[in-house]
Order: sequence, then C-alpha cells, then structure tokens
Amino acid sequence: MNNMLNNVNNDTSFFEIRVYPDSILRGIANPVNNPDENTLRLIEGMAKSMYTNRGVGLAAPQVGFDQQVIIFDIGEGLRSLINPRILEAAGEKRYEEGCLSLPDISLEIKRNSHVLVTGFDIKKDKEVTIETSDLPARVLQHEIDHLNGVLIIDKISSLKRQLLTRKFKRKRGRREET
Ligand SMILES: [Zn+2]
Repeated sequence: MNNMLNNVNNDTSFFEIRVYPDSILRGIANPVNNPDENTLRLIEGMAKSMYTNRGVGLAAPQVGFDQQVIIFDIGEGLRSLINPRILEAAGEKRYEEGCLSLPDISLEIKRNSHVLVTGFDIKKDKEVTIETSDLPARVLQHEIDHLNGVLIIDKISSLKRQLLTRKFKRKRGRREET
C-alpha cells in the first residue's frame, strides 16, 4: 500500500481506470490516517483521470488505490474528500447512472435524494460537512459506495445483473485475447 503511494511520486501522467471485474473494485478501502503530500498527488492524478474520461466523480479504488479518497466535480470545481461518511440521508429518487469502471452501461438506480456527508478536505486542511441533494447527492453516494466495494450493478435485480456481468466477462475475455 505504501509502496503504491510512493509510486504516485514518479507518475506524472493520469491513472488508468480499473474496469469491472477488476478485483480492486470489490475491496474495502483503507482509511487515510495522515493525509499528506502523497494524498495530494493521488488526488491530482485522480482528477486528471476523471477529467480525461469526462467523469463527474471518481474513487481511489477505481485507479488502483485502496484508500478512502473520493473526488467529484459537478460543475462547481474540483472537490475531494478523505475518509468520507454519510451522516444522514433522506428521500428517494430513481435516475440513470453510469460508472467509469462499467463502461457503456447506464442503469436506473434508486438512491437517497438528500445527504449529509462528512470527510476531510485536504485543500481546506479541515473536516468538512456537505449537505446536498439531487445530482451532487447521487455522485457522493456513488463514490462512497466504491470505497465499500459496491457497484451500481449491485443495485439492480439479480436477473439483470447476471445478464450484465456475463456480458462484461465476455467482453473482457475478448479484450485479453486480442
Ligand atoms: Zn463508479
């Protein structure tokens, strides 16, 4: 884990997005006990990956780091949260959602429409709370799910999931052959 973070120092390009069924997407990310320069570099690398892939949010496991770090930009600039937690959630809304780790699919996912989230903001150098609704609330829930190994395919019916995962594994098999 530390070795991986040291590699961040040497890596000036953006990180490659890990795609399902990569096993890191199913792990539980570790809390970051002492956010430092390496954490900042990780966030910068993640931001490059997110913007390059036109995402609105990204979690560290999606670029191969099992750290509790998420970033998002829902049109108000880049934000990052270390060790984010949902304190309160209310309301329900269904909406189409995609994921950079599950390319080319879009699923209607039911989530809370309002959330109160806390986490450490390394740029502000303090613990912050974010109360938000609709799209930002959805993005925060989606990225925090990633830190717990949860993907949007876990939130649909098991039949639909079976069909989708089979499709993904076939695609991946083909990719490895070529
Ligand atoms: Zn995702």
